[in-house]
Amino acid sequence: MAVPKLEQLSKSVVQGPSLATGAIPTREWMDLPVVFKPGNYAYPAKKEKVEYLDSQSGLSFPNAREWSPEDEDWKLPEDWKEIILKGLKERLGKFRSLKIFMDCCVRCGACADKCHFFLGTGDPKNMPVMRAELLRSVYRNDFTLAGKVLGKMAGGREMTVEILKEWFMYSYQCTECRRCSVFCPYGIDTAEVTMMMRELLHLVGIGINWILEPVSNSNRTGNHMGLQPHTFKDNVDFLVDDVEALTGIRPNITFNRKGAEILFITPSADVFAEPGLYTAMGYLALFEAIGLDYTWSTYASEGGNFGLFTNNESMKKLNAKMYAEAERLGVKYIIGGECGHMWRVVHQYMNTMNGPADFLEKPVSPITGTVFENASSSKMVHISEFTADLIKHGKLKFDKSRNSHVKATYHDSCNTARAMGLMDEPRYILDHVVDWVEMPENTIREQTFCCGSGTGLNTDEIMELRMRSGLPRANAVKYVQEKHDVNMLSCVCAIDRATLTSLMDYWNPGVSVCGITELVANALIQEGENRPELDDGFRTLL
Ligand code: SF4
Ligand code: SF4
Repeated sequence: MAVPKLEQLSKSVVQGPSLATGAIPTREWMDLPVVFKPGNYAYPAKKEKVEYLDSQSGLSFPNAREWSPEDEDWKLPEDWKEIILKGLKERLGKFRSLKIFMDCCVRCGACADKCHFFLGTGDPKNMPVMRAELLRSVYRNDFTLAGKVLGKMAGGREMTVEILKEWFMYSYQCTECRRCSVFCPYGIDTAEVTMMMRELLHLVGIGINWILEPVSNSNRTGNHMGLQPHTFKDNVDFLVDDVEALTGIRPNITFNRKGAEILFITPSADVFAEPGLYTAMGYLALFEAIGLDYTWSTYASEGGNFGLFTNNESMKKLNAKMYAEAERLGVKYIIGGECGHMWRVVHQYMNTMNGPADFLEKPVSPITGTVFENASSSKMVHISEFTADLIKHGKLKFDKSRNSHVKATYHDSCNTARAMGLMDEPRYILDHVVDWVEMPENTIREQTFCCGSGTGLNTDEIMELRMRSGLPRANAVKYVQEKHDVNMLSCVCAIDRATLTSLMDYWNPGVSVCGITELVANALIQEGENRPELDDGFRTLL
């Protein structure tokens, strides 16, 4: 889909009609149907991907078929309504949080203007309180006494196909970023409501391809792209060659090595796509500099977990793969690369789904002796925690001037900031390796704005929507670009590295995107190095 020109889109964000209806709402929200048209929805999952996933043990993805959101008939199972209501009942019994979130919203509106989708589309149903109300109204109708007796007067709605379509529209216009929850006095987490709507939709065969294809690939070959073990290995080997060419030191790496002290897992995007490639080269150089005893795995070749964007079962299965591989190889613990949702799964869900990982050891840095108490049960240490600890103990030498071509700012990825509280370590690292500035206060740390394309929405057919929802983040970058000549947006998330690149190209040309470890490697002084002047750091073409 072509994206409107920047001036046009800027004007439309402020004055234009809702993307979902094509009109300024003129009726009560309950009576306003959604209208699907090219550009306002992500493509449905391919039939063969759904069939494959449904055939896998532990997973259930029924009703594989060809269908289009623009069609009147979505080819739902005959008893779709019973399936949805039964699914909702089960989940209300299983997840206490869902029941609480359904019951305790007081409509104070504190969350209303905190969502980047609302800010970028102006669509009232993108206010977090309204997004949750799409599900809550059905809950109220069928699961509360007031709703059963008073129906619409009590805010209840009987489940219909129109509501199902509305759930599809708005649960895929939420990146589950949790910004709204920071401002809710009751801590209502609308991301979890979105997750439930997506789960329920999958029960009747409604899902999008940009999520289910990576889930299917990860389940089959271990990573999103479906790279087979030899291809994954080849890609990392190419990066080893590149690091050697730039530094004169060839990183010594191994794959699937039993008895290694540490298993390293990163998002596969780091080994096959720019700008993540430079981050991966950074890991290689860093680990070589400290002589880390570690191994890559061609089986657990993906840190990202798109299962999080579908249902609990898929998330659990993909997460389990990393730990199964750690156990098989007999490592002590895992170091994880720069990823967002991998860390959300590890910090928020892993322990109750697959953990605690008692077969691994409490992580201790072999270089500094630091015990990572925070990873006592997950047995997984974030690369930024690991690197910050090395710096604190004086184990790394830097020449900051090697990053003199960079004026950076830092984007807190939603998942690492809000789901795991990783906010100081990346900043501590940046202080040591590069000249950088903060974006405005209400757009960083817990209040960070989402890239606008997370949770599997990083797909081209909804590019206008992505540029709209990414506008609040882009706007904050623009501020530091104009005020401080910032030319680099650093982050610790592979999805961000991909999505922010498109966002910057559109709203803020001249600002590139990188991982923190790329900046670390740029500035790193290695013993025995033979390094020419690298005008563009690890991006320099020799
Ligand atoms: S979780 Fe994020 S995207 Fe979803 S409603 Fe809240 S602020 Fe919006
Ligand atoms: S801030 Fe919380 S209580 Fe207030 S409207 Fe939003 S979800 Fe409801």
